[in-house]
Amino acid sequence: MQDQFQRQIDYLRISVTDRCNLRCKYCMPSQGVAWMPHEDILTFEEILRLMRLSTQLGFHRFRITGGEPLVRRGILEFLSKGSQIPGVDDLMLTTNGLLLSEMAFDLKAAGVRRVNISLDTMNPERFAEITRGGDVSKVIQGIFRSLEAGLKPVKVNVVVVRDFNTQDLPGFLTLAKQYPIHIRFIELMPIGSSSERRSDFVPIQEMKELLGIKQYVPSKEILGGGPAEYFQLRDFKGSIGFISALSRHFCSTCNRIRLTPDGKLRPCLHSKLEIDLREALRNGSSDQDLLDIVAQAVWRKPAEHHMNEEALQGQRIMSQIGG
Ligand code: SAM
Repeated sequence: MQDQFQRQIDYLRISVTDRCNLRCKYCMPSQGVAWMPHEDILTFEEILRLMRLSTQLGFHRFRITGGEPLVRRGILEFLSKGSQIPGVDDLMLTTNGLLLSEMAFDLKAAGVRRVNISLDTMNPERFAEITRGGDVSKVIQGIFRSLEAGLKPVKVNVVVVRDFNTQDLPGFLTLAKQYPIHIRFIELMPIGSSSERRSDFVPIQEMKELLGIKQYVPSKEILGGGPAEYFQLRDFKGSIGFISALSRHFCSTCNRIRLTPDGKLRPCLHSKLEIDLREALRNGSSDQDLLDIVAQAVWRKPAEHHMNEEALQGQRIMSQIGG
């Protein structure tokens, strides 16, 4: 369906849990976060009902995220049911990759088409440091297992943080050169526990210089219609791209809304506007009532975000929003 600014909104990102098996420094505060109580989190049946209904409004692309979606019990059965809903044309997953080496083939069998894997550095010490204890070798195994399983495309998301992983960026070029892996370098957003440390921010122009590539030739190939700008590099099996979280250049083509684990619709990642669906799901509301709420969320999607100006402190962390 169209929003009031004539954008076609057909993409729903669903955060199925706020739990995660990593504690990334820029995402979570060191003291941890209070997890949502289980009863507040939508059941898979509730999410499947919403997916079925939203296809009636023209949604046909669904990304499952979190927290870490693969830690939620029953995730494979949920994905399998979700992928069989008529109108669900593209079911995708965003994961930290820790469980992918065990689950990639099962995900493919469940109907997941593609995966985005978050990996900020391939250096074992620095990975353990930023994730507060994660094992990078598991993530790397998971990436290759996803390629073997035929999940396509496999994208790797690298959030660039000053004085942490800037020296590791060129290493990702090797991965994109040798394998059909699409690396996206992402600007750190002022959200979660990184909302106050703007000195960590590295703009895309600087990332491009750090990569040491002389000339960037924009790629004509569109990989998923998202906010990334891709570049083609000679003799590369994969590609590289950049995502500017702060720039508003993609608001005019933004095609998505988000569902939080506790059943709130967020028309824009960077706005405080939330529309509750859980109450309606649990009080016996009709399908039409639910459709009206989703349609209202689409309609109220802001024209653009104001993340540069707005302090987002005190807001939810990414896992609760559905990063
Ligand atoms: N656990 C899954 C994963 O790691 O991909 C899905 C959820 S995670 C919150 C989604 C993505 O948000 C990750 O790629 C993470 O790096 C990114 N993220 C979290 N905080 C961010 C921030 N302040 N700026 C940019 N990206 C951020």
